[in-house]
Amino acid sequence: MSGQHTPIPMVDLKVQYRSLRAEIEEVIHNIVESGHFILGPNVEAFEKEIAAYHSVKYAVGLASGTDALHFSLRALGISKGDEVITTPFTFIATAEAVAYVGAAPVFVDIDRESLNIDVSHIEGKITSKTKAIIPVHIFGQPANMDEIMSLAKKHNLRVIEDCAQSFGASYKGKKTGSIGDTGCFSFYPSKNLGAYGDGGILTTNSEEIYNKIKLLRNHSTIAPYKHGSIGYNSRLDEIQAGILRIKLRHIDSYNQKRAEIAKIYTSILKDAVKCPLETADRTHVYHQYTIRSQKRAEIQSALKAENISSVVYYPIPLHLQPAFNYLGYKEGDLPETEKAAKEVLSLPVYPELEPKQAELIAETVIKVVSQR
Ligand SMILES: *Cc1c(COP(=O)(O)O)cnc(C)c1O
Repeated sequence: MSGQHTPIPMVDLKVQYRSLRAEIEEVIHNIVESGHFILGPNVEAFEKEIAAYHSVKYAVGLASGTDALHFSLRALGISKGDEVITTPFTFIATAEAVAYVGAAPVFVDIDRESLNIDVSHIEGKITSKTKAIIPVHIFGQPANMDEIMSLAKKHNLRVIEDCAQSFGASYKGKKTGSIGDTGCFSFYPSKNLGAYGDGGILTTNSEEIYNKIKLLRNHSTIAPYKHGSIGYNSRLDEIQAGILRIKLRHIDSYNQKRAEIAKIYTSILKDAVKCPLETADRTHVYHQYTIRSQKRAEIQSALKAENISSVVYYPIPLHLQPAFNYLGYKEGDLPETEKAAKEVLSLPVYPELEPKQAELIAETVIKVVSQR
């Protein structure tokens, strides 16, 4: 049966484009005709729509999710000598942002069921230097925000939510990104809500943070050609905002389709491999559908033989990355994270994946695991 079906990628951005083509081409055309490319009406309207979607007061469009994390730390006054607690099982940007402001990331091991930061290990890592916690809603699964918020309150820490993978997910009825001091979103093309280039946004209920971020993104311009401090060039552009406004209208149905694919996978795979955790108090938006198995290598090669993509997110935890050698972590320090890094495998999941394709993928995995 090898080679009889078309290759299945991790994500297919072209199918979605074709379904939105007329609307997107019109928006791009209108923006180009208007000649207004930076900080115009689409960015402003999109910020309002994002704030409303999350039931927060403010949203600020930025050039990337990494900048949203970096600027959150800047706006909260975190700097050299400070410590920020986060998870080692994430994309490097989460901890790079901490390093950008001169602070030290402090990695806490993960919970093996959710792959999110293990809240029971946080308090033991809090010192007099700790200023903030950055939970990451990894793969689209919300972290344990109640416990994180109450620890933050007890120790007077700020909370920066990394929502790059969790657009649309909710925790006890609240959208991720509306619970901490700031929510940081990425519109990298393959994210659940993806632009046609780079982009990001920051959400907050604090007017003070909002004002600071608006200055930081635009060279701290306090009056025409007058600059209050050293800022950045980090603006979401009009064309991306126009495209994202169209996609925002579909995001809930896109996430729903991802959940349907996940349901197919789990129904077929649940006794053969470890499937993602589903809990009643939160919605998982399946940025990735990630299984765990000690037969990962065999599963991946069987998928490859069938022309099916799969990816290991993340093979090297952040505490073992060469970039963070200077922090002094070593193998064995964060055992659950290291174990997960050896077992995880993400399968294709995107709204346009056909249920039949999901079944084929799951059957391919099953065949390997049931072999003895
Ligand atoms: C994608 C991602 C980021 C970075 O977002 P960019 O827009 O690419 O800068 C940060 N954190 C996590 C968890 C991500 O997946």
